[in-house]
Amino acid sequence: MYLLLRYSASVESRAQFTKQGKLPGNERDGWHGTRRECQLGNEGKTRFCTSITCSLCGIIKTSFDLARGFNGTGFGLGWEILGKALYTSSSSSKSDNYSYNTNWNTPLKAMLLNKVIAGKCYVAEKAEETLTGPPVGYDSARLPQAATVDDLAVYRNDAIRPSYLIMYDGN
Ligand SMILES: [Zn+2]
Repeated sequence: MYLLLRYSASVESRAQFTKQGKLPGNERDGWHGTRRECQLGNEGKTRFCTSITCSLCGIIKTSFDLARGFNGTGFGLGWEILGKALYTSSSSSKSDNYSYNTNWNTPLKAMLLNKVIAGKCYVAEKAEETLTGPPVGYDSARLPQAATVDDLAVYRNDAIRPSYLIMYDGN
C-alpha cells in the first residue's frame, strides 16, 4: 500500500484533484475479474495456493504486475483496447466476464475490488491497442463514457492495489 500512496501523492501534487472535490490522485474503485485455479474464497478456504499461474492468489500476494502478465498468467495485464495496461472496470458485470475458475466445479466466482490511481485520464476516441503508457501529460486512459466498455487502463504497477476479494454466485 505504501507504493500506491507514494504514487498517489506524486500525482496529486501535479494536479491537485482534492481541490476539485476528488480523492487524492483521483483515486477510484475498480473491479477486476481474473483466473482462479484453486479454492481460495470457497467456504473455509483461506490459504493461497502455490501455483504460479493462479492469477487470483498471485495478485493478492504481490499485487498486479505488468511484467508477470507477459507470462500469460494474467496478473491484471491485458492486450486489450487501450494497449498493454492493467485494467479495471467501474462495472462489476463487465469484470464478471473475466472471472473464471479452472479446476473446481463450484458456482462461486471471485472478483477483486481495487484502489486505482486514475490521475488525469486520457479519453481515447477509439481503441488504441498499441499504447504502452498514457499519452504525455496523462496518467491513465479510458474510452468515452458513452461507449459500452468502461475499462480504465493504468500503465504502472504502483497505480493499483487489490483491496477486497468478493465471492459471488456466478450462475
Ligand atoms: Zn490460487
